[in-house]
Amino acid sequence: MKFIDEFRNSTVGQRLAVRIKERNTRPVNLMEVCGTHTVAIFKHGIRQLLPKKVNMLSGPGCPVCVTPNSDIDKAIALAQNPSVILVTFGDMMKVPGSYSSLHQVKAAGADIRVVYSVLDALRIAKDNPRKSVVFFGVGFETTAPTTASAILEAERLGIDNFFFLCVHKLIPPAMRALLNSDEVHIDGFICPGHVSTIIGSQPYEFIPREYGMPCVIAGFEPLDILQAIDMLLEQLSAEEPRVVIQYRRAVRKDGNPIALKYLSTVFEVTDACWRGIGTIPKSGLKLGQQYQRFDAECAFKIVSRPPKEAAGCRCGDILRGASTPNECSLFAKACAPEHPVGPCMVSTEGTCSAWYLYGSKE
Ligand code: SF4
Repeated sequence: MKFIDEFRNSTVGQRLAVRIKERNTRPVNLMEVCGTHTVAIFKHGIRQLLPKKVNMLSGPGCPVCVTPNSDIDKAIALAQNPSVILVTFGDMMKVPGSYSSLHQVKAAGADIRVVYSVLDALRIAKDNPRKSVVFFGVGFETTAPTTASAILEAERLGIDNFFFLCVHKLIPPAMRALLNSDEVHIDGFICPGHVSTIIGSQPYEFIPREYGMPCVIAGFEPLDILQAIDMLLEQLSAEEPRVVIQYRRAVRKDGNPIALKYLSTVFEVTDACWRGIGTIPKSGLKLGQQYQRFDAECAFKIVSRPPKEAAGCRCGDILRGASTPNECSLFAKACAPEHPVGPCMVSTEGTCSAWYLYGSKE
């Protein structure tokens, strides 16, 4: 299959693995920011191909995982309002909030619908004019343009029963927060491929400029990832950090101008709270003044109890790259995909879930 088979060629993969071994002269920590990369690295056995001195760290690029309990609790409170139909993506259903999950409140009778596209939520609003339909919008720069387009479409159609609980987040400010914290030593970033199709490479330029650190925007097939690691090691040995696009079949330097236009039309940048990291300046999106009538937090009085974390869960540490799942005492015991304790075990992009499915359970 075009763009897949040639990126899974084992002969080329072995050659790249040899080159990586030859280039690697010292211990390095490379962070894959994106959860889809984490899963691909485990699924394709990339770790086993790397020299021991190349340590892969997983970052905060799983949107479900970084959504804090306080936001999940708000969605649950909205879902419990009998006049509301809450609409969201499937991954959010099983994520535990402080006291419950959307899955549990749906089982108790709340009207919660799972959709594949925000436009399905718009259709539900059109079909249910007597109900308030609230879309729980989670995700990074990749999904935020679709939320923006749905808001513009709802405005065009004059739909007045459609609202958004928007917790969209921006990846580059989270990378800056990790670099500023000094908690984890990072030598280079594998930047997210999907996010970069929207934002391009420019928003990462501060990383080599201010932190002297290389970045490679990578695709998701095994050869993409191996080549990205090779490119990072090449930059490290040459001491010439810059932002390189490995995923050239999808990412352009300036990103996707149409999607960016949607974002800037509908949203304003705001501070946002990330699980495990806390509030990161200018790392979230809120509805701009002109679109505030769609904001569920303005339209409804949302009452939820103070948020709390599940005892023993180390998702926060894992999202900062400060711990690995096997350092959590609940991993593969009290916490497993069938009975997750934290979001990193729920999401298909979660680090704990990737370790559980493809890695060691020790
Ligand atoms: Fe949280 Fe479960 Fe991961 Fe532990 S194994 S950090 S409880 S999700």
